[in-house]
Amino acid sequence: MLLQPAPKAVRKAMTLIKTTEILADLIAFETVSADSNLEIIRYLTERLEALGARCIETRDATGAKANVFATLGPDMPGGILLSGHTDVVPVADQDWTTDPFQMTERDGRLYGRGACDMKGFIAAALAFAETLDISKLTQPLHFAFTYDEETGCLGAQNLVNDLSERGIVPDIAIIGEPTEMRVIEGHKGCFEYTTSFVGLEGHSSAPDDGVNAAEYAARYIGKLLELRHILKSRAPKGSPFEPPWTTVNVGRISGGVAHNVIASKAEVAWEMRPVQSSDAELVRSTLSDYVQHTLLPEMQAVHPETSITQEAVAEVEGLEPMDENAARELVAELTGANGTGVVAFATEAGLFQQLGVHAIVCGPGSITQAHKADEYVEIEQLDLCCRMLNRLGRRLIA
Ligand SMILES: [Zn+2]
Repeated sequence: MLLQPAPKAVRKAMTLIKTTEILADLIAFETVSADSNLEIIRYLTERLEALGARCIETRDATGAKANVFATLGPDMPGGILLSGHTDVVPVADQDWTTDPFQMTERDGRLYGRGACDMKGFIAAALAFAETLDISKLTQPLHFAFTYDEETGCLGAQNLVNDLSERGIVPDIAIIGEPTEMRVIEGHKGCFEYTTSFVGLEGHSSAPDDGVNAAEYAARYIGKLLELRHILKSRAPKGSPFEPPWTTVNVGRISGGVAHNVIASKAEVAWEMRPVQSSDAELVRSTLSDYVQHTLLPEMQAVHPETSITQEAVAEVEGLEPMDENAARELVAELTGANGTGVVAFATEAGLFQQLGVHAIVCGPGSITQAHKADEYVEIEQLDLCCRMLNRLGRRLIA
């Protein structure tokens, strides 16, 4: 006589096996951020459409990169969103033991580029959808799979703008970046800028006839560093971050040619990591006022073709810990976590928070295994993620 295993246990095991199979497929797509991700998006879209999902694709300006936003279940506001980025960091100059784009299993670990950051979560989310009785969903279940997270959350920015225009605002978003399945309710933002100064070259013996770009850059830096003290004093009470305030950093200065030449060009690469969006606003407006009302008028009084321009290299919103966060409550319950934390890395969660979604970061694997040679995710971590999603499934079904 055959012993019949309990259906629940079967479903659990099925989800993990399916997750592993899907992960092998996902790792095989070479989705380094610089390259197109259209193939992996097509793969994910086809599998979700086979379940009856309604899919919206958004692309970057080149058309070579895409996000997919998919919805299963009833057509109504709210619902739960599972989100992950499809791009991975490069493998060039890394010493891998095996082919980074072919998943290999060793000692309870699955190796491959993106295994933990963050194709493991995407695989678990898709396997979850494929083992769920979709006809019984009582609220929408959304999926967001994005491009160019590793280069500044560009895809998610595009996606969130599109959702905002369409008036689609899920109630809760789970962003499955690797947290070892811990519930993460906050991270600082990361804003990186390159500010360029164009002056007027001349002989150093006649400084008033030229516009010294290096000197204007120095004054700009001075203003930025003045803000450092103000930002320290603005740290929110009980801020869980380390350090608890918004930081700024001047990372690179370049410009000029020689001791006796008035520098015609200078460039400052700097960043800030805000703990609250009002700090980012303060830094931007203070610097912009200083440029518009002090530096530029002085420069252009000498020569009209001088300029100060700024390029945003990355603008990743922080995830601000909130007093009320339905995502935190839900995921803490699903994982049985008895606490929450913050992390030092930035994610797409802050963008969803800006859209008005209650957002949380929780996913399989560890950030210490990401971005390195021989990146891996422990099968046990994937199993924990599948269990969390299966519990979520029971909540979503009538
Ligand atoms: Zn990531």
